[in-house]
Amino acid sequence: MERPGNGQPNKKGLLERLRAGDTIIGDGGMICEMEKRCYVQTGFWTPEVCVTHPQAVTELHREYARAGADVLQALNFFANESLMQELGIKQSVEEVNRAACRLCREVAEEKGLLFTASLTATPVFEKGGSREEVVDSYRQQLKPIVEERVDFIMCEWLFDIREMELAIGAARETGLPVVACMTIGPLGDRCGVSPEQCALRMARAGADVVGTNCAVGPRVCLQTLHRMRLALQREGLQPFLIGQPIGLRTPEDGRTMIGRPYWPLACEPVTITRFEANLFAREAYEEGIRYIGGCCHFRSYHIRQVVTVSVPRTAAEPGGLVVCSVTVLWTGRAMAEELAKERGGRQPEAASRLGCWGGGLDRFSEPEVQSRVGRQHWAHVAPDLHTLGDQSPAQHFADWKSALKRSVSVDY
Ligand SMILES: [Zn+2]
Repeated sequence: MERPGNGQPNKKGLLERLRAGDTIIGDGGMICEMEKRCYVQTGFWTPEVCVTHPQAVTELHREYARAGADVLQALNFFANESLMQELGIKQSVEEVNRAACRLCREVAEEKGLLFTASLTATPVFEKGGSREEVVDSYRQQLKPIVEERVDFIMCEWLFDIREMELAIGAARETGLPVVACMTIGPLGDRCGVSPEQCALRMARAGADVVGTNCAVGPRVCLQTLHRMRLALQREGLQPFLIGQPIGLRTPEDGRTMIGRPYWPLACEPVTITRFEANLFAREAYEEGIRYIGGCCHFRSYHIRQVVTVSVPRTAAEPGGLVVCSVTVLWTGRAMAEELAKERGGRQPEAASRLGCWGGGLDRFSEPEVQSRVGRQHWAHVAPDLHTLGDQSPAQHFADWKSALKRSVSVDY
């Protein structure tokens, strides 16, 4: 497949940077964030938003860039023909994929970042289509994606390793680097293929970077990636590792968020805090993961936290990233203080001037708020679910009038 030249001739590629020891920071979940902003519909996850509301997509790319991401991902999620037909989307596959890539590329070039676009699960595969039909569907998407000069191809939101292998095969035809993320936790893919086997099969299919995206929260994602890493090591395979979990706490038994009754519309109570994003990045780095980002419910402030706190940038790399000094991790001093020197003063565009562990709260007049500055507080405080109510919305609002009578004496 013919590839036009890159718009940033001096930019280092993904693999070049990874081989040089950099750690790449991804962006957050585009489609969920667009849903929260009322531009797309839940369930339809309509990718034509890139055509209908391009300014909203551009603004979100810019936010992730300001947060310090090294890679921006085009919003071409689900933009394959069979799915678009099912959803009744009137735009063409070419139009949506091209528009998504252009919006993303404009911001990436403006900020000097890498950019990518994705291949995801297709109804063609789900309905038992042939290998050729599935691969043709991916090739149809890849044509505009490659013509718009992405830096690499991201295969993600794939639940069956067999479909992943087809996606990797199609992506490899472009000659671009291929990143492959199974959307799984420790229970493996839909057919019960283990994380270990998925990792080996992605690597053997030719993916340069392998790991997981979405599905499970940061902690369970780490457990899954740990098993993948050990399996790859045992077999002498050495792809780079990627982790882009969902920004929610998910059950320790490995079940994915999709199985929770409150997914996808009532997930706010289990959304991770910015400090959990930070701690995830730390642990991921120590696990040897060198492409660290987020998927759904990871918002721009989570990414900023990842960059600001956990990954000091090399002074020579304007787009990003990372060499993390393990020696600073457990000193007990505030993380931001520790790493400010390591970063040589480099910060994301949107970094807080006052530090990322609650800096600035000491300006409040209330002493109890003033005391909430520093890692010691924010790494150890937990949401007070008993006070805030671990109840359903119906329980929460039931009997509020009688509760008022019990708690307040109204006397006019
Ligand atoms: Zn996701």
